[in-house]
Amino acid sequence: MSMRGGIDLGGTKIQAVVVDAEGKPLGDARGPTPHARGPQEVAAAMAAVMREAASAAGADAGSLAGVGVGSPGEVDSESGTVSNVVNILDWSGPFPLGETLASEIGVPVAIANDVQVATEAEATLGAGTDYSSLLGVFWGTGVGGGIVLDGKPWVGRGAAGEIGHVVVRRGGARCPCGRRGCMEAYAGRAAMEARARRRAGQGERTVLFEIMEERGRDRLASGVWARALAHGDTLAQDLIERAVKALGAGVGSAVNLLDVEAVVIGGGLGLRFGEPMVDRIRAAMMRHVFSDERPPVVRLAALGDLGGAIGGALRAPTGGG
Ligand SMILES: [Zn+2]
Repeated sequence: MSMRGGIDLGGTKIQAVVVDAEGKPLGDARGPTPHARGPQEVAAAMAAVMREAASAAGADAGSLAGVGVGSPGEVDSESGTVSNVVNILDWSGPFPLGETLASEIGVPVAIANDVQVATEAEATLGAGTDYSSLLGVFWGTGVGGGIVLDGKPWVGRGAAGEIGHVVVRRGGARCPCGRRGCMEAYAGRAAMEARARRRAGQGERTVLFEIMEERGRDRLASGVWARALAHGDTLAQDLIERAVKALGAGVGSAVNLLDVEAVVIGGGLGLRFGEPMVDRIRAAMMRHVFSDERPPVVRLAALGDLGGAIGGALRAPTGGG
């Protein structure tokens, strides 16, 4: 049958993919998010990357059955509007992303939550295909989560899956969300970076910021953390250990509540560190799992960087065809 497009909108990059009827990628493309130029320009860049992915698949974007988008921020799937995208300039009020993309690309467009569609992609085509209940944990700048129960997405009233804001310590570290003690306050890349800067500023030795500069980065990207760990950097080791413990507590608590069959770990840091870190997270989780005779399997996300875009494509409108 006809091809569908998917777009994963991130704070730094836009990933687009074209898939066949089975969800198999036929072509993909990636470009930077013009985050300093507002939602209108971001939508135009998304359309351009989508067209590029279509031509990589040997097709014209206008001939796709539809396009689905995994978006950050608050998504209203009914209306196709998105608000409160914190990493993009001037995107607090609702912006008609679906309508704008549909007129730019010339095909129907559906908008959904980025982490939720990435979880659904793993459940349908990735590490979770053998399971009907699944928790997706996306360990990156923040820590996002997605839930599939009995083979169906669980979004609550729209805000379910916020595993990054599960409390792992009452009155604990300040979270980027403004509250205290959230898992993300310990495990989110942004929170880890803020803590590393504070401790380095207090004179603690670390190669994190040298590596960052050598790599021409202005933030502690996942590759910077990986290189610092390979150097045996004690500050990096300490902050990663703290993150793993927080992930273990948060994921273990979610497992106690939901009793899912599988936990899938993805996100920038999760994918970068790979299987060895999944093993560490599993061990940290097991300390908190109540029903420890039948723990869920814990797996690395299998679709990698393309998972979000493929998940978007799975939500693409196909005109009933
Ligand atoms: Zn929080």
